[in-house]
Amino acid sequence: MGEGRQGARQARKRAIRRKAQHRHSHFYERCTHWSFSHSGEVEPIRWHRERWILAGTALLITLLSGFILPAWASAMRPDPVAPAHALLPLALPKAPTASMQAPTVEDWHIVQVQPGQTLSDIFQSQGLSLTDLQHVMDTVGKAGGSLHNIRPHQEFDFLLGADGSLRGIRFDKDDASRAVVRFDESKSTLTMETRDLEQREHMAHGTINSSLYAAGAQAGMSPAMVGKLAELFKYDVDFVQDLRVGDSFTVVYNDVYRDGSYFAEGDIVAAEFVNQGQRYTAYRFKKEDGSYGWFSEDGRPIQKSFLRIPVDFTRISSQFSVARFHPILGRMRAHKGVDYAAPTGTPIHAAGDGVIKFKGWMNGYGNFVVIQHNGSISTAYGHMSRFGSERIGQHVSQGQVIGYVGMTGLATGPHLHYEFRVDGAQRDPQKMTLPKPEPLPAVQLARFKQQVVQPQLARLKALDANIKLARLGSGARSDD
Ligand SMILES: [Zn+2]
Repeated sequence: MGEGRQGARQARKRAIRRKAQHRHSHFYERCTHWSFSHSGEVEPIRWHRERWILAGTALLITLLSGFILPAWASAMRPDPVAPAHALLPLALPKAPTASMQAPTVEDWHIVQVQPGQTLSDIFQSQGLSLTDLQHVMDTVGKAGGSLHNIRPHQEFDFLLGADGSLRGIRFDKDDASRAVVRFDESKSTLTMETRDLEQREHMAHGTINSSLYAAGAQAGMSPAMVGKLAELFKYDVDFVQDLRVGDSFTVVYNDVYRDGSYFAEGDIVAAEFVNQGQRYTAYRFKKEDGSYGWFSEDGRPIQKSFLRIPVDFTRISSQFSVARFHPILGRMRAHKGVDYAAPTGTPIHAAGDGVIKFKGWMNGYGNFVVIQHNGSISTAYGHMSRFGSERIGQHVSQGQVIGYVGMTGLATGPHLHYEFRVDGAQRDPQKMTLPKPEPLPAVQLARFKQQVVQPQLARLKALDANIKLARLGSGARSDD
């Protein structure tokens, strides 16, 4: 009996399954060709239906890319500037057409000269012809000007008509004036525009944590201005070896602004540098001859008779000593100079003004130069890879390049061997105390102290005091 009921139930299940298969057969037939278990029993593929599906999908993609993507892209755009015309009142008076074309802002197109580019390259890049260039050259030439020396990064502004024709070109003649050439119908005109150059004064104070440049940047100075500061104190402070954490500087300097925007760095007006507790100062002063010089608080020129170090070195590879083990000779020998390691080809500068006394090969020194500075002092430079252009007997100025670092003669690596000689005997250039340069003559010194030192020193002190106050105000936090 149980068997009979079970048999009946199974028969009913089979019937339901058959019915369902029949009801959904349409679906199965349509979809079997998509599957991998393709059974041969189904009807042939109905291609027209598939074409509809594909067409529908394509339409959907088109709609997506046509409507949704642009909307999304514009939403991603940062702060779109509201179009200017949207702000115009609708009730614009119906003016005659002539005045509708009237004053619009001229659309000058700025082109910067790339290294190696010529003026004709630039004209061609603007879609202009060499005839256009010739017209410009002629117009400028008639006014006594010239366009023959163009330099990289110089700018030319072009004004083009709606048809791409040249309507105007302008360029800097010098820092304070600009030449403007215009073409109207058949005639051309050249005008000179004076530009507004203005010096703006800044003050900065920095404390060294890691490097001078980092401290300068933190104080808002450009790297070029930090370079000027280092140049000013290079006679007193060796920025490679002597700089310490906690050293500080205070500086008053100018920047040049043209037509209201930053144009170039100016000069240092006054500066103070504290290195390992020692205070150094430099003030700009207009001398009798009209030129500027920098002087310390007591009126002595900042520039000393001798550079501390005549080369941009990477490290001192050997100090001055009376006896050291010579790496090549393999025995003890005095080292009567200082070795400054630097890459081959690094320029070597004359330590002071003087005359070339020797230039040539000298035993262990290799390529060797001696400069005589006065009756008693001379400096000597060894192991050069090559010489500068000055001949024996010729005058050289302090800082002039007299040769390049190398390893000629007895040297294990590229370095400058530098000697400082007094009456022919070598002395340690790092320990030499040289006579201080002469101060300004009395009348100028009085003017310098009154007109420069007094007011500028007051400003430096005020800034220092403000910074100390600000530090006290910020509590126990110390950020330097
Ligand atoms: Zn040496």
